[in-house]
Amino acid sequence: MPLPPDWDVIVVGAGAAGLFAATRAAECGRRTLLLEKNVRPGTKILMSGGTRCNITQNTDSRGIVDAFGPSGRFLYSALARLNPQEVVALFEAEGVPSKIEPTGKIFPVSDRASDVLDALVRRLNRSGCTLALEQPLVDLVRLDDDSFQLITPDQSLHAAKVIVTTGGQSYPGSGTTGDGYQWATKLGHTVIPPRPALTPVTVDAMWVRELQGVTLTDVAVRVIEPPDTESPERQGKQKCLAQRRGSFLFTHFGLSGPVILDVSRVISGHAQPRRLKLECDFLPATSGPELDAHLRNEAATSGKKQLGGVLSHLLPRRLTDTLLALLTLPQDRKLAELSKADRGRLVQSVKGLAIPVTGTRGFKKAEVTAGGISLQEVDSHTMQSRLIPNLFLAGEVLDLDGPIGGYNFQAAFSTGWLAGECV
Ligand SMILES: Cc1cc2nc3c(=O)[nH]c(=O)nc-3n(C[C@H](O)[C@H](O)[C@H](O)COP(=O)(O)OP(=O)(O)OC[C@H]3O[C@@H](n4cnc5c(N)ncnc54)[C@H](O)[C@@H]3O)c2cc1C
Repeated sequence: MPLPPDWDVIVVGAGAAGLFAATRAAECGRRTLLLEKNVRPGTKILMSGGTRCNITQNTDSRGIVDAFGPSGRFLYSALARLNPQEVVALFEAEGVPSKIEPTGKIFPVSDRASDVLDALVRRLNRSGCTLALEQPLVDLVRLDDDSFQLITPDQSLHAAKVIVTTGGQSYPGSGTTGDGYQWATKLGHTVIPPRPALTPVTVDAMWVRELQGVTLTDVAVRVIEPPDTESPERQGKQKCLAQRRGSFLFTHFGLSGPVILDVSRVISGHAQPRRLKLECDFLPATSGPELDAHLRNEAATSGKKQLGGVLSHLLPRRLTDTLLALLTLPQDRKLAELSKADRGRLVQSVKGLAIPVTGTRGFKKAEVTAGGISLQEVDSHTMQSRLIPNLFLAGEVLDLDGPIGGYNFQAAFSTGWLAGECV
């Protein structure tokens, strides 16, 4: 059955931001249509957090703003309308209680992303909003009276106001193919070049791939750009482009885990990613001198112990075997026979092993998109375009990307909610 052609508000994209925006607009009394290209809404919500959905972070508005870096200030007004505690309360009221994990990540108690999505769809249905599935928007046309014509493959619709919540272009298989950028560009907006963020990092070194499956819960990682021999002013200076600490995983293509995903945006955004290396401290809670002293003490008190055995009390055995092989130190070397120079090399490799990278797994495996519609051109108090009256933008389609930990959903929920209240 065709949809009624005329609407107060049409929201394009039923993801995290679109579901909040459409619900809120309808609750505020607007005749609202939510268009979604997929057969169901909230595909990324279902995939998120390893299908557990990390809905937000256990922090206040300030904590969310800070996590987004310099662009985080854009979120103040949206968070003033819907902060992390209010998101938690909103889900609780819909019968989805949540729990806080030691990392501060907040998940539904059930560990089921489907509960989160069901709750949002329930509230959407109660709001009176119409949800139209398998209805991709193919064109957005601005009319002379500042309203819009929206073209889908089936029909032409009209709306006084439009909220674009089409997300970024990561995981394109889930429906996010950067469609919003095209319309925004056509309407005169600046799109900061999209690039993959929160994406695994690729490494050629065979020894890394052979460690596939080894996980460490606490590794400090720095992305290092070596001195540029061709630029006279930067000669001799290496630069740290990003640093984080957290859980780390070796994979068949390179490296993953939250700490790697969090630093990946500087690699995917680098003109020559192959020049970069990751400096990994596998024991960040122990200083270099402390580790050195520990090895010396062990040598003094239990000198017959073998190197491999002693190290495996500190790190996973497969990793220590590999580190020793890289240093050409035999695993059965007795501690008492370890020279000062070799002990120094060992401490250095545990505390700052350099792993050259080749790039990232790209948009295909990126949890978010960095770049997007320029924040300068959007009023953060309303989410309305500063260039096109009655056009609103929310969620990841904007030039906003946060770290792992529920920050990205919070930003999508809050900006969507604010846009819904302001249309
Ligand atoms: C694997 C994975 C795990 C993640 N886990 C987490 C997590 O645990 N916590 C967290 O905070 N963030 C997580 N994220 C990031 C989070 O999913 C996104 O930041 C968030 O979904 C962005 O919300 P959005 O509404 O802006 O975009 P999306 O949720 O991507 O929604 C955009 C919607 O627009 C639709 N659409 C696109 N083009 C059109 C069109 N032309 N017509 C109609 N509809 C269209 C899409 O189909 C989609 O439904 C994860 C992402 C991925 C990929």
